[in-house]
This record gives sequence, C-alpha cells and structure tokens, in this order.
Amino acid sequence: MSSSFTRALRPALRGGRCLAQRAAARSGVARPIAARNAIRPLSTTSSLRSDDPVDISEIPPTPISHLSEVEAAMAEAVSKFANDVILPKARDMDEAETMDPTVVEQLFEQGLMGVEIPEEYGGAGMNFTAAIVGIEELARVDPSVSVMVDVHNTLCNTALLKYGSEHLKRTWLPRLATNTVASFCLSEPVSGSDAFAMHTKATETADGFTISGGKMWITNSIEADFFIVFANLDPAKGYRGITAFVIEKGTPGFEIAKKEKKLGIRASSTCVLNFDDVKIPKENLLGERGQGYKYAISLLNEGRIGIAAQMTGLALGAFENAVRYVWNDRRQFGSLVGEFQGMQHQIAQSYTEIAAARALVYNAARKKEAGEDFVKDAAMAKLYASQVAGKVSGLAVEWMGGMGFVREGLAEKFWRDSKIGAIYEGTSNIQLNTIAKLLQKEYTS
Ligand SMILES: Cc1cc2nc3c(=O)[nH]c(=O)nc-3n(C[C@H](O)[C@H](O)[C@H](O)COP(=O)(O)OP(=O)(O)OC[C@H]3O[C@@H](n4cnc5c(N)ncnc54)[C@H](O)[C@@H]3O)c2cc1C
Repeated sequence: MSSSFTRALRPALRGGRCLAQRAAARSGVARPIAARNAIRPLSTTSSLRSDDPVDISEIPPTPISHLSEVEAAMAEAVSKFANDVILPKARDMDEAETMDPTVVEQLFEQGLMGVEIPEEYGGAGMNFTAAIVGIEELARVDPSVSVMVDVHNTLCNTALLKYGSEHLKRTWLPRLATNTVASFCLSEPVSGSDAFAMHTKATETADGFTISGGKMWITNSIEADFFIVFANLDPAKGYRGITAFVIEKGTPGFEIAKKEKKLGIRASSTCVLNFDDVKIPKENLLGERGQGYKYAISLLNEGRIGIAAQMTGLALGAFENAVRYVWNDRRQFGSLVGEFQGMQHQIAQSYTEIAAARALVYNAARKKEAGEDFVKDAAMAKLYASQVAGKVSGLAVEWMGGMGFVREGLAEKFWRDSKIGAIYEGTSNIQLNTIAKLLQKEYTS
C-alpha cells in the first residue's frame, strides 16, 4: 500500500496523474465523468457532481459516515500526503508565519486545487464531498494548508464554475487547477458580518470597469494571482448594486498591503488589499451586474461546509496527537495517564462530539450534492464543528500537561488554530442567526 501511495505522490515528476485522479483510478472509477457520476449502491450521493440533476428517492439509505470508493481513496491518499509532506513542515511554517512554496506546488501537483474542476478544464472532475474529505484530512495535520485548499476550491473555483463566462472559464480554470492560487475578497474594514455594507465601488467605462476601495482579511492573498472581488456598481441600489469581478495580481493600482500577524493559522496569509482606480476589461465581470450579493450568499453557504470540515479535521488531529501520548508515552503514579478514568471519560466524550460534528458536516455535504436545501445544515455544521474544535483541542493541551503547552509538538497550535472557526465565513453568532431565522420560518404558522 505504501509504495502505491508513494507513487501517487509523485505524478508530475513522472508525468503521471495527480493524486486526486489516482484516487479515482485506485477505486476503479477512472472512467469518463458521465460514467463516474452514475449512482452506485454504496452511497446515496457517492460521486455526484454538485450540479447533476438526480433522484435519490429510490436509493437505499446508508450511514452518513459512509464514503464512496472515490472519496475513501481520496481520504487515504490525502492523509498520506499530509503526513509525509506537510507534517514535517507544519511547525516551521507556523513559526515563520509563511506557507512553504513547495507545499503550494505539491497541492497543485496532487490535483488538490482543482478537485471539482471538470477534466475538460484540467481539473480532477470529482464531487463536492471529495473536496470536503480532502479539506478535513489536510486540517487533521495542518489547518493553514487546509484553509488554502478550502478557499481556493469551495469559494473561488466554484464561483467561476457557477457564474463565469465561457471566456473566463477557459482562461482561468486550467490555471486554477494547475498553478494559480485564488482569493475571495468580500470583507472590508467597514463590513464584516454586515458584508454588503461594503464601500468598494466599481464604475463602468467604455471598455470595462474601474475598481476603487479596499478589502481586509483576505486569505491566500500573498500566494494568489487570481482575485474574485465584490464591489458596488450602483450604490444607489444598496446591496442590489453589488457585483463580482475578476482581478489579476499585477494590474496597475492593485496593491497587496499589510499582512496580518495572527493568533492561529499563521502559515495562511491574510492581507489588506487596496484598489486605486484599478482598470479591468469588461470580460472580467463575473456573472451578472447586481447579482454579487446573491453569489456571495450562495458561495458562502457552500463554503461553510468546508470550514466545518476543516474544524472537524482539526479536532480529530488534536485528539489523535494527544491520545497517542497519554496511551503510549506518559506514565504517572505507575500508570499510563490515559488509563485514569478521569482522563478516559473526557477522551470518550471528546470523540463522541467529533463524530457528531462529522455527521453534521457529511449530512450537509450530501444534502448539497443531492440538490436539497442545505443552508441550515451548513450553518449547524460550521457552528458545532468550530465549538467542538475549540473544546477538544483545548482539552488535548491539558491531557498532555506541560508537553501540550510548549511550542514543540502541535497541541498548542491546534488550539490556537481552532479559534478562527468561530470567526471566518460568518461568525458563530451569524450562524445562530441563520439557524434561528430558518427555524422560526419553519415553525411559524
Ligand atoms: C484569518 C481570517 C481570514 C479571513 N479570510 C477572509 C477571506 O478570505 N475573504 C473575506 O472576504 N473575508 C475573510 N475574513 C473575514 C471574516 O469573514 C470576518 O472577519 C467575519 O465575517 C467577521 O467580521 P468582523 O471581523 O468584521 O467582525 P464583526 O462583524 O465586527 O463582529 C464582531 C462581533 O459582533 C458579532 N455580531 C456582528 N453582527 C451580529 C449580529 N447581527 N448578531 C449577533 N452578533 C453579531 C459577531 O458575531 C462578533 O462576535 C477573514 C477573517 C480572518 C480573521
């Protein structure tokens, strides 16, 4: 097994296929997309691409934790890749507050930056849950790498796939799948939770648009060359003027400004962006004028499942790191410390909560793939997974005593990294607002 995965990790060097495609191949489904998307009995929505119309009413229900063969192979391959390639660098990248460029290169080589991009555009042509599985497995080792893959795939690639013109797709998707990192630029100094109160403006000109203003908190912005930017094209219409654009790094007037120093996910870049009369061609309009707010809501609803997967993977990584220590290494009072009942009950409780978070994540992902309404499920998954990540990673520090508190292993890093789950892609209060609003609608006669 080990040698086949080692081979899977070196596709570009040998002119082979990427890890994601090999995951499909290993599972015996390296076939044309249409054939691969056929419903198989193992999973209700196993290999469905998100936009496929499908009737799932006749499919026998399976456990929510069940993965299709493709997804299971993806999980195994990404886990191996994360442990072999990312784990040795995770501590140093955190200390340096920098993403190692070779890690980014290898994410592309392994096909992890184009999971849902169809093969005709150079991607792996896999389903949404496969991306979720990859994000979870990466976070189990390094949540910073995980969020790079998450934002790139679930927000940026999806935005282009759903709303991009054929020109934009042909120009950018092959690059996004193979060598170009993407950023999603919505938040501003004045507009966080109230995202549509943005001040960045767009003006239509004879041959395109001019963008003026600034963004804040933009993930991947040091590494990215492709930016999806939301700006108001018609402020008189309020949020109905918000429009999405594509801006390329290097466009005159576009500046990547201050890089934030953060508590957690420190290897992930987060910057302020400035737009000083940035001129872009008309082809860089993403979708329709005035539809940007709808696109942002829809993309973030999906993206939240990715953050929930990141938090679930983080919780499991923190848990595993600590239980290996208490059940193998550390003895006090003549016993392994993990043998004391006071410890075992906390461990059992924590694992139960991780499993519950995971069930919420996969249920939301499956509902999205099945074309069902998943907004409440995504909000619940993100809310709960980030709570579990914070709680379990905090306990894991305590289980390891002083060894959990020092910046040598990964215990304290997982705990610091967990805080972001309650903040980005909608704070926990915003998730609660969404859940409560939808419940009230459901229960109001
Ligand atoms: C590391 C990091 C990476 C990020 N990456 C990106 C990115 O790539 N792209 C991007 O566009 N943005 C990004 N963000 C921005 C992120 O989405 C916002 O930080 C988030 O939406 C919260 O906005 P805010 O920070 O302005 O907090 P605020 O909106 O000021 O919220 C402050 C507090 O008020 C509470 N609050 C606000 N409104 C309500 C309400 N109606 N009801 C109850 N409580 C409320 C919040 O829950 C929070 O506790 C990132 C942020 C961080 C920290």
